[in-house]
Amino acid sequence: MIQLRNIERSYKTGAGQTWVLRRINLDIREGEFLTIMGPSGAGKSSLLNVLALLDDQWLGEYWLKDEPVHAMNRKQRAEVAKRNIGMVFQSYHLLDDLTVQENIDLPLSYKNMPRNERQGLVADTLDRFQIVGKKDLYPSQLSGGQQQLVGIARAVIHKPVLLLADEPTGNLHSSQAKEIMELFKQLNDQGTTIVQVTHSEVNAGFGNRVIEVRDGWMTMDSANPDLANPG
Ligand code: ADP
Ligand code: ADP
Repeated sequence: MIQLRNIERSYKTGAGQTWVLRRINLDIREGEFLTIMGPSGAGKSSLLNVLALLDDQWLGEYWLKDEPVHAMNRKQRAEVAKRNIGMVFQSYHLLDDLTVQENIDLPLSYKNMPRNERQGLVADTLDRFQIVGKKDLYPSQLSGGQQQLVGIARAVIHKPVLLLADEPTGNLHSSQAKEIMELFKQLNDQGTTIVQVTHSEVNAGFGNRVIEVRDGWMTMDSANPDLANPG
């Protein structure tokens, strides 16, 4: 589903520049549940932001479903992201002045979808995530775990092939974290390819592959024990 070839990312720092991703080569197959681990500041979020097409200041090749993202302009990348990718954040990133229902409807508002189809999809999603009773509440009226449930509902309502999550349980108690991970596992079993960043070995255990990033280099891949460490 994804091929990254020699992905590099740097930031300007004072006089020079700091490299945060170094020659990342990574293939992700459809149906995988991949975990990115590594120390703080290693480049994990930077890598996820490249995959999410939130960042467009990188070098190298990124193929998504055989489409050359690296050759696309900003508008084309936004289209590809909208069609294929859902994103979940550590701090949920819900809009505080919208209700649960309005928050999960948001990705559909960018699509040209007939009103009744859109309402049906929202109703189905509320039902599927068992948040029908919360639909008219605002994020501040929910627990962290419930907010993340809404964040995931919003991320998958447009049925993305790829679900990306940056420390999705980082602000949650372990019981809530387990529920969120079980939900990820269920989505993965239903065919969604998942990439998560986490510090948690427990969370990693829900996936089927782990890579490690250190100082911007990919230093370990459980699917490729022979990976040479260039760092
Ligand atoms: P991780 O997710 O592994 O903690 P990040 O990808 O967030 O690491 O960050 C990698 C490095 O890049 C860090 O040193 C971080 O401070 C730096 N960095 C990330 N984003 C920016 C930015 N927008 N401007 C400058 N430096 C950044
Ligand atoms: P969340 O908790 O929702 O995942 P964060 O609070 O970690 O989000 O914020 C991450 C954002 O901050 C990213 O867009 C990342 O690129 C940016 N960032 C991380 N480190 C730095 C840095 N050193 N300088 C500037 N921006 C940074």
